[in-house]
Amino acid sequence: MPHNAPAAGPIPDGPLPAVSEELLRALPKTDLHCHLDGSLRLGTILELAEEHGVHLPADTPEGLARAIHQGELCADLEDYLKAFDVTLSVLQTEEALYRAAYELALDCAAENVRYLEVRYAPVLHTRRGLKPTTIVDAVLDGLRAAKRETGIKSSVIICGIRHIDPVTSLRLAELAVAFKNRGVVGYDLAGAEEGYPSKDHAAAFQLILANNVNVTIHAGEAYGPESIAQAVHYCGAHRIGHGVRLREDGDLLNYVNDHRLPLEMCPSSNVQTRSVADMKSHPLKFYFDFGLRVTVNTDNRLITDTTSTKELWIAHREMGFTLEDLVTLVVQGFKSAFMPFREKSDLLKQVNREIAATLTRFAAGPRAVDAGTQRSAT
Ligand SMILES: [Zn+2]
Repeated sequence: MPHNAPAAGPIPDGPLPAVSEELLRALPKTDLHCHLDGSLRLGTILELAEEHGVHLPADTPEGLARAIHQGELCADLEDYLKAFDVTLSVLQTEEALYRAAYELALDCAAENVRYLEVRYAPVLHTRRGLKPTTIVDAVLDGLRAAKRETGIKSSVIICGIRHIDPVTSLRLAELAVAFKNRGVVGYDLAGAEEGYPSKDHAAAFQLILANNVNVTIHAGEAYGPESIAQAVHYCGAHRIGHGVRLREDGDLLNYVNDHRLPLEMCPSSNVQTRSVADMKSHPLKFYFDFGLRVTVNTDNRLITDTTSTKELWIAHREMGFTLEDLVTLVVQGFKSAFMPFREKSDLLKQVNREIAATLTRFAAGPRAVDAGTQRSAT
């Protein structure tokens, strides 16, 4: 079949099942906005600290969860970012980076995330003298090991950091360019948004764009729509991280919609950093209804105490997404992946078939679901 042929839709004829967390877990999903250093297992942090003699603020999983404000409201984005001091303290060796990447991809595969884009800033892992190239290789090796075991596809986005000097961002951009088509698919700008405009890092983005590397930028999370406009117009962003405040500028909102620029939204994280007051005032459903290409992601599985399944469940329970809406959200995740178009269209056809089969199985009742689970476990 030619690559531009329309794919069969994912909604089957016949009865549809009720939305449940179990159904959402069974659906094939993406996570396009997931930070490596915010998505470790608690037990792994404790073990790595013990192995490498790192002092942590607590020595039990419960104490550590409290120390990093796991799933709790923070004062603002900068307060939220303090938890990374803890996670980064144990991510300074090749083995630790390999393990963090491997376990993250396994955890995603366990809830049927089929395609994962992991992001991190290699410069934050050099405290014990690791070379940036070693850091990138260690993470890619961990992801490959998880793929061999579970089949999960994944790739890496290298992050520059807004509040670190622009020369460092350029060095990180060079790293992303060198590893393009070798596991790295994009470049991002993360970190404190207010007071650190993305256009200060223009040299990094010039290099990235000159090398046809994908760009996503955290914007409109802790600062207004001007930040999103800069990301798109000065830095050539192909996707926007969060974009919560895009609704404040109708003209820019329509520009983003008309150009089908995906928004990587992370509802629980957005509440935790006080980017929105609460889930009811989150713009995800409004953007979705207006036609924007929104996607749902975790941001930080550990610090926000979440999963892809949980974020979709919140979209259903607290924002009114119907089953059909949720399927569209999931498909938009695949459509927004930084993946070659031809590969992506093949994956989308497979995903549509799988969604249709999953919905039919759940509509047929618990016995069909159990039988399907047993089949996929063998
Ligand atoms: Zn983020």
